[in-house]
Amino acid sequence: MALRFTSSTPLKTAAEVEKLRASARLVSNALAEVAAYVKPGVTTQALDEVAAQVLLAAGGRPAFQGYDPGWGGGPFPGVCCISVNDEVVHGIPGGRELVEGDLVTVDTGVELDGFFGDSAYTFAVGKVSDEAKRLLRITYEALAKGVEQAVNGRRVGDIGYAVQQHCEAEGFGVVRQLVGHSIGRTLHEGLSIPNYGRRGHGAKLKGGMTLCIEPMITAGAYTVDTGDDGWTVVTTDGSPAAHYEHMVAIRDSGPPDVLTTFEPIERVLGGVPFA
Ligand code: MG
Ligand code: MG
Repeated sequence: MALRFTSSTPLKTAAEVEKLRASARLVSNALAEVAAYVKPGVTTQALDEVAAQVLLAAGGRPAFQGYDPGWGGGPFPGVCCISVNDEVVHGIPGGRELVEGDLVTVDTGVELDGFFGDSAYTFAVGKVSDEAKRLLRITYEALAKGVEQAVNGRRVGDIGYAVQQHCEAEGFGVVRQLVGHSIGRTLHEGLSIPNYGRRGHGAKLKGGMTLCIEPMITAGAYTVDTGDDGWTVVTTDGSPAAHYEHMVAIRDSGPPDVLTTFEPIERVLGGVPFA
């Protein structure tokens, strides 16, 4: 999610980065707990409650619940955005039961001690098709390639270029209408991080920037629509989508500091969901 394009965002001190790391770890742990419940027959509402318990037990405030960007859907009712198959992002948790072969993306956010965390992971429900696994793998790899570009002195367009090249080379669609964002004392701090772009173009990346990089990739066309609930974003052609999101801090020199971690999720899963 992002609301506006600006070319700057507040730079964080080392102490602020540690606060953001704590928020990031909390959302990572919430997603790991959710991972244990992703099975055929579970409702998306049940997954939402699992994440809520983890965030609240640690003293966090679920950041998505009540969030109203003014898009017409009103305040978001869930703790997580839970999006199944052709739903790309912003799905509202409810009574839908997951079935074998589904792809389900869980995206959640928290405010802890004044700093926000935000991360997303797409899970496979039971056994999924080889084509679904390929979509998950390429999206996951594209995130890593985007993260790699989060280096002092590079440009926002370098991140988008890396993601876009990797996905389009495989014939997948890169959603344009939704983008990553800077994060800190608010969920969306002003800088947008598209998953498409031109090398060497866009805002300059600086040490102390903290960003959410989050490729939203479809198995078909990249165009999306918003559903009647005013929130759920679906692919226009009905093709499935995947979405992985990391929070990273840009260092003054050297590789990015990835604040979120998929390790606890993959410990629960026993590996990546596209193996
Ligand atoms: Mg998110
Ligand atoms: Mg985000």
